[in-house]
Amino acid sequence: MKIELKDLSMQFDDVLAVDRLNVTIREGELVSLLGPSGCGKSTTLFMLAGLYKPSSGDLYFGEKRVNDVEPENREIGMVFQNYALYPHMTVLKNIMFPLKMSKVPKQEAQERAIKMAKLVHIEHLLDRKPGQLSGGQQQRVAIARALVKEPKLLLLDEPLSNLDARLRLEMREEIRRIQQEVGITTIFVTHDQEEAMSISDKVLLMKDGQYQQYSAPQHMYDKPSNMFVGTFMGSPPINMIPVLYSQESNSIQMNETESTLSLGQQIHSSYGPNMILGIRPEDFVLVEDNATEDVLTARVTVVERIGRDTMLNATIGDKHIRVLIEPDVPVQQGDIVKLGVRPNRYHLFDKETGRNVL
Ligand code: ATP
Repeated sequence: MKIELKDLSMQFDDVLAVDRLNVTIREGELVSLLGPSGCGKSTTLFMLAGLYKPSSGDLYFGEKRVNDVEPENREIGMVFQNYALYPHMTVLKNIMFPLKMSKVPKQEAQERAIKMAKLVHIEHLLDRKPGQLSGGQQQRVAIARALVKEPKLLLLDEPLSNLDARLRLEMREEIRRIQQEVGITTIFVTHDQEEAMSISDKVLLMKDGQYQQYSAPQHMYDKPSNMFVGTFMGSPPINMIPVLYSQESNSIQMNETESTLSLGQQIHSSYGPNMILGIRPEDFVLVEDNATEDVLTARVTVVERIGRDTMLNATIGDKHIRVLIEPDVPVQQGDIVKLGVRPNRYHLFDKETGRNVL
């Protein structure tokens, strides 16, 4: 089912938790709502679930406006952070419960519940109670219960946050597999950018209730619309280096250093001269010592070897940066290195507005 948020807002007393969101989610997509704590992710999800009524704007499921439709009539399945299973019921009874509530005959309810248990790979646990299951298994039960009525929309509220790191990886792959097998439109709330990147067709990144960017995760990483997006996506984070832009030479200069970079493309003349250059650690390249054009000169302060990678901590002027290099390059603490930037792998942000100007 296609979902549309049109100018959707939620005001709580003096807090504008969600500020005029406009987003279309296509049928069958998995979309992550991503952003720091308090940015309005859960509030948005609760409006979709019908637990909160929007203060203004419209919400459409397919062609139908659902602002006033009660949660039980929205054809949604929901999985909460704590799974909210019924502790005194067996796994089978837990999964059957929504069907029992809608008066589906027992035999049919049981068959449908078993089919769902198979889908989420817990058919061997049907007689257990939730207390006798691991966190990952409990979550599988919660997903089966959310899907058993064949809803048109699945809502997941930070479903992985109670799991340890290894299980989190396993369960996010499982959620993606199940979602694709069922083909259900799914909205997934998380504050973990890596989780959102790995699982989603699209990511909606929010800050202070406001839309920042809505796009495929790789696109968001490669083409952040502003400094906040650039910094939020990626770990270790993007380097942000203050620079001065010269329109005359269409180049940028690091503040208080001789290092300059010429820009391939012309930027809009209404910006500048103070800008922020964004370069991800993996987008630097080490160049020959005698190179002079389009290189940044940096002093290496720490060399970290992390598995296959080598991370240099370095300074350009008084600015600290991180540079990811090939594992076998002999660089040591104290070395002066020349750094080039991979073609089209830099970002330029207006210092005032934070907007990406390239
Ligand atoms: P988290 O990752 O911490 O769960 P979130 O992105 O889900 O955060 P929300 O829970 O949607 O954020 O909250 C958005 C803003 O609205 C916050 O400033 C929060 O304090 C406020 N808020 C949320 N629910 C209510 C409420 N029922 N009454 C008043 N303010 C609220």
